[in-house]
Parts: sequence; C-alpha cells; structure tokens
Amino acid sequence: MAEATIFGKIVTGEIPVEKLAETDRVIAFPDIAPQAPVHILVIPKTAEYANVTELAAGDPGLLAEMVEVAQRLANEHADGHYRLVFNTGANAGQTVFHVHAHVLAGGLEEGSL
Ligand code: AMP
Repeated sequence: MAEATIFGKIVTGEIPVEKLAETDRVIAFPDIAPQAPVHILVIPKTAEYANVTELAAGDPGLLAEMVEVAQRLANEHADGHYRLVFNTGANAGQTVFHVHAHVLAGGLEEGSL
C-alpha cells in the first residue's frame, strides 16, 4: 500500500486537528496556513481518490456530501457565501494527493480567483 498522506494521518488521528465538522464519510478542519479569514479543508475519510476528477468519476455522492459540508461551514463561520477550490495536479498547486476542498470565506476580495 502507498504511504499515507498527511491527510490520511489526520483521518486516523495520528496527526490531531480541530474537527470543525464530521460525517460518516467526511471531516473538516482549519487549514494550517490560512489564505482567507475563513479557510477550512473538507476531505473524505477514504484515501482512495487523489483529486476531484477521480472523486467525481468514482463517487459523485461523496463529492456532493463534501459540498454540503462546505456550505454548512460557510453558514457557521461566515455569511454563507464561499469559494470552493480543488487544486488538481502539482502544476496547479496541489501538494497533498488526497482529494480536499478549500472552503474560503469571510471578507474575500471581490473578483479575485
Ligand atoms: P493543496 O496545496 O491544495 O494540496 O492544499 C494542501 C493544504 O493543506 C495547504 O493549504 C496546507 O496549508 C494544508 N495543510 C498541510 N498540512 C496541514 C495540517 N497538518 N493541518 C491543516 N492543514 C494542513
């Protein structure tokens, strides 16, 4: 089996995080290097999918669950408005190959990506 990524270790509890949301299949925790007033990562517990393209093809219901959790977090931690970012591929800035959504919210610059 491939070595667990840092997010795999977060799922097993080997690396502790402040859980901001949890369902049977998904957890969310603050990004360690926030890029916005609210910056939360939403990840599936399974390490099966490296990126959002694989997840969408393999388990669209799980992707929908991640979006649902993202909305709930934006409601709880901001005004319900949020940006959802899935870096996909090293050249797009992906550093952890366990699919994750960045939930960015709270005082985002208008029009910026
Ligand atoms: P990406 O660059 O899209 O692969 O995102 C990986 C994200 O994981 C980065 O924004 C990091 O700041 C974040 N990160 C790395 N290690 C941790 C950790 N232990 N706890 C929380 N966030 C982390």
